[in-house]
Amino acid sequence: MQLSNYHSHCTFCDGRSNPEDFVRFAIAKGFRAYGFSSHSPLPFETNWNMSAIDMPEYLQEINRLRQKYADRLEIYTGLEIDYLDKTYNASIPYFRELPLDYRIGSIHFLPISTELKEANMVCIDGSFSDYAHSVERYFEGDIRKLVRHYFETTQQMIEAGGIDIIGHIDKIYMNGQKYALFDPEQDWYRKPFEDCLDLARQHQLMVEINTKNLLKKDELYPRKNYLTHIHQLGIPVMVNSDCHYPDLVNDGRTQAFQLLKEAGFTTTRELVNGHWEDLPID
Ligand SMILES: [Zn+2]
Ligand SMILES: [Zn+2]
Repeated sequence: MQLSNYHSHCTFCDGRSNPEDFVRFAIAKGFRAYGFSSHSPLPFETNWNMSAIDMPEYLQEINRLRQKYADRLEIYTGLEIDYLDKTYNASIPYFRELPLDYRIGSIHFLPISTELKEANMVCIDGSFSDYAHSVERYFEGDIRKLVRHYFETTQQMIEAGGIDIIGHIDKIYMNGQKYALFDPEQDWYRKPFEDCLDLARQHQLMVEINTKNLLKKDELYPRKNYLTHIHQLGIPVMVNSDCHYPDLVNDGRTQAFQLLKEAGFTTTRELVNGHWEDLPID
């Protein structure tokens, strides 16, 4: 089992501690590799995303830690980049030109207008009350319409490129499953999601196994019963805790690796000396 994590937050975005605290916890837990992936800057300010003005300091600080702890931990600089629309995503020059080790593409916001400002965003990763309000207001109260839109946007994100890893690929179900109508076994959910996975395979992307809510809510992203399908497609995966607190760097890892083994996985894809390699799950 690899002791690594490539999806983590710190005080440069909405994480609750400074980067060095996360490094110390990772070392204390015996980690081999640790990557930071702050929420990318957006065209507008939010409570979650880092500000573009802080980017040089972010890169510099992770680099400082990389050097300071070089004999104990491989430290990597990543970013969790929001796909907003075709004009603002990981493929634009701003993100392509940043000196990053890897890029995670995630969807948290679905714009309801071409004018990219916070008031025009449907947040799919926040409270259920906000989510339900958006379903009523913009999707005629029909959860299926939001799900379809989310997975279509995920496909656009994959087509746009500029990313290595897809973050919490089906997070839409976190709030969506609270609807009586919601059934992830029905075609309206399954088909567009499976189209995303097919496209991820074609584009040779990695899909993270996100354990942020595994122990807390018994929710894995992707859903547990998709792991076998993902394995059969040959999509490379790694286990990420998406932690915002240092003591959660390793949250859910053992359980996720057990699920991967049960689904037939024998390797996870890992950064080793700056290169992606498939390492055995022992
Ligand atoms: Zn995220
Ligand atoms: Zn995250």
